[in-house]
Amino acid sequence: MRAIAKVSPAPGLSLTTRPTPSPGPHEVVIQVKATSICGTDAHIYNWDAWSQSRLTLPRTIGHEVCGEVVEVGPAVTLVRRGEFVAAESHLTCGECFQCRTGLAHVCKNYRILGVDLDGSYADYVVLPENVLWKTDPSVLPHIACLQEPLGNAVDAALAEDLTGHTVLITGCGPTGLFAAAVARTAGAATIIASDVSEYRLRLATHVGADHVINAQTHSPEAFAARLQDLTRGEGVDASLEMSGHPAAVHQAFRAVKNGGRVTLFGISSAPVTVDLANEVIFKGLRVYGITGRKLFSTWYRIAGLFKAGLDIRPVVTHTLPLAEFDQGFALVNSGLCGKVVLLP
Ligand code: ZN
Repeated sequence: MRAIAKVSPAPGLSLTTRPTPSPGPHEVVIQVKATSICGTDAHIYNWDAWSQSRLTLPRTIGHEVCGEVVEVGPAVTLVRRGEFVAAESHLTCGECFQCRTGLAHVCKNYRILGVDLDGSYADYVVLPENVLWKTDPSVLPHIACLQEPLGNAVDAALAEDLTGHTVLITGCGPTGLFAAAVARTAGAATIIASDVSEYRLRLATHVGADHVINAQTHSPEAFAARLQDLTRGEGVDASLEMSGHPAAVHQAFRAVKNGGRVTLFGISSAPVTVDLANEVIFKGLRVYGITGRKLFSTWYRIAGLFKAGLDIRPVVTHTLPLAEFDQGFALVNSGLCGKVVLLP
């Protein structure tokens, strides 16, 4: 089978030929229908310091995936051949404190598909049955594979109720865009989105943002003044910080009203200094750190959100054949895209 792998410790990936995998007793082979590019995959493609410290080569990468079950191990009971599934990318240990107390999304020993074991940029991928998520076949593959990153956005947006609330989303990469769509479906009153890219701000309007603010052309003071204008001087009920940029972190804290909440999802490349007294404590804020997806309550919630009309199609700006992965990563590195989906 074809597999896109990191074979040498340098930027880029290679189209390789690998044996088609066979399932172990509790494993399943999936014929990949769609697999999308995540920021993590771009880090690996670009071979940054994190990738160099984390990956053992060669490694087939990719972890956002959907496909058809084509082979099941002898002990598999949860799925059958022919079923359409997506997959949770975090393989948890099932034994640590967190796993045993309903907090498996922060398992201490989790392994990541396409990082710690061979991933989904391939014709076939082998997975344990307990990470599979049966998906309604009416959900098209280029949408079904996005349930994993969409789960991050669901947990970020819905860490608290948003119905009737005003929300600021700082950072309109794919997860910020998903969060805007989720906030819209969840009944947010007003959605304000900020980014430094006009391209991405335009996408934000397509998934339901009511107002957009370019954080590059607005000074911090002008940004705050525009926020005050849009919220009748009250500030927002919730800030979703999806960029990791230090300036955006401060905007997120500054924009939220006293007694509101801030959700932090964006990963900063260096430690960020926060004025805890003035930005958090005296405002009486609630602050959430979001990582991964709740297992599996978030996945059930995604299925419900699709039924409630959640439409993330505008986020998918490019679909490419698997073999054209180089073009996909060039798009991701340029920032002139939403989600890029590869189709084996
Ligand atoms: Zn665990």
